[in-house]
Amino acid sequence: MTNSTTPLLLDNVTLEYPDGQDNTIKALDHVSLAVERGTVTGLAGPSGSGKSSLLAVAATLIPATSGTVLVNGSDVAGMADAERSRLRREEIGIVFQQPNLLPALTAQEQLVVVAHLRGESTRPPEARAAELLDVVGLSGQLAKRPHQLSGGQRQRVNIARALMGHPSLLLVDEPTAALDHERSASIMKLLRQVTQEFDLATVLVTHDVEFLPLMDSVARMRDGKLTLPASVA
Ligand code: ADP
Ligand code: MG
Repeated sequence: MTNSTTPLLLDNVTLEYPDGQDNTIKALDHVSLAVERGTVTGLAGPSGSGKSSLLAVAATLIPATSGTVLVNGSDVAGMADAERSRLRREEIGIVFQQPNLLPALTAQEQLVVVAHLRGESTRPPEARAAELLDVVGLSGQLAKRPHQLSGGQRQRVNIARALMGHPSLLLVDEPTAALDHERSASIMKLLRQVTQEFDLATVLVTHDVEFLPLMDSVARMRDGKLTLPASVA
């Protein structure tokens, strides 16, 4: 059942990139997908099948060539740039493979910066940052800078930072590609945990089929086409 409060709805979305000559590459080919709150949708498929393109369109970073993208019921194609930026800041959390933390900042400051960018003033951002770092298992590491943290810990900071803006939609692209198996498994479990705890609609791209049983549903991509999610349970 979907309605206007569904955090992410893609309806018949096609995305074409120019190929540098006269033709186009169809990265997304009539893709439809709904992601509800409190659920993780796993997105699997071979390299080049369109997984990152789907996330970029959902994140409103790239406009669809045709079709409709609704975030919390709002059509992103009709929005002015400022409105789309606001939507990204306030409704969408993005976690990419590389954490891209700022080298000079502590774990807590990485999160506080986000609150300052949002202009949030209702509550000291330091307190929320500390809470979120606790949620991701880093309560003792608030003052650590990126080089003092392991790869898995940096990815945890990255996840906490994505939650700082109170998103309803969490978009995650191969978060464990640089991590060993044990750390990968605990990051996947953490993403599931925060999805439930914060009632997020999460799309999680992974090439590792071993983690698919942790998802609520799995959508598979091939050549830009999406096979609709089937329940894993
Ligand atoms: P995946 O994340 O599944 O590996 P991508 O979404 O990155 O797949 O890519 C889907 C297709 O779109 C591929 O054929 C890729 O080469 C192409 N593509 C991705 N980004 C661009 C771009 N910026 N310009 C042109 N083609 C692109
Ligand atoms: Mg990709």
